[in-house]
Amino acid sequence: MLVVTYHSISDAGGPTSIPPDVFAMQMQTLADLGRRSLRLREFIDWHDGKNNSPDDGVLITFDDAFEDFAKVAAPILQQHGFSALVFVPTQRLGHPEGWIGANNPPRPLMDWETVRSLSNEGIEFGGHSRTHANLIKLSPAEREEEIAGCAEDVSEQLGKPIEGFAAPYGCVSTEVVEAIGRHYRAAFGTRLALPARGQDRFDIPRIDMHYFRDRGHWAGLLQGRLNYLRLRQCLRAVRSRVVRTPY
Ligand SMILES: [Zn+2]
Repeated sequence: MLVVTYHSISDAGGPTSIPPDVFAMQMQTLADLGRRSLRLREFIDWHDGKNNSPDDGVLITFDDAFEDFAKVAAPILQQHGFSALVFVPTQRLGHPEGWIGANNPPRPLMDWETVRSLSNEGIEFGGHSRTHANLIKLSPAEREEEIAGCAEDVSEQLGKPIEGFAAPYGCVSTEVVEAIGRHYRAAFGTRLALPARGQDRFDIPRIDMHYFRDRGHWAGLLQGRLNYLRLRQCLRAVRSRVVRTPY
């Protein structure tokens, strides 16, 4: 079982843009190895120990709702019958990214019309705050506005309840996690690891696909070879002591 993270599928460069041909290879590899794409509800049931589905599922997530999700990623996902969960900074939709750590030039985000039409086609949406704020830097009132307000925006626009959240920059504190827990059923972070049943449902680790642009490394992980993942975890731990990851 694993949860993977994407941001932009484009040639924009930087760690948060994966070129379309690399994304297509990563999806093709999943399909070739017989992996299933899960919906959030199925993943939560597995995580809670409520179903005995085999561990061959993958929850495919995208942070930031970039326009290239609709134009490039969704058609490739559809070719394989895969779903995805996209985390939306609700008040930024329809605008270019403009937050700390954004690419230069900024990449455009989807608008609500596109999000609604993808939702009708089966793509799932979750929260990523209202303004892509660093939630640990906010007052309690501002925090609630970003977290609860985002849930309101998505459920109002899509007419269905929202269940998943990913904090911008992966930045959370005890207070942030408590606030998320009042409005969502699960939250995903930036910790580079595989999920395990029964662990904290508001700190679910994800594999950032920036690290698996090589088919051999990616297929190896899917086949249970964890040596490359362990190496990346180690290097990332060293790097995070030097500089914070910018996304
Ligand atoms: Zn983000």
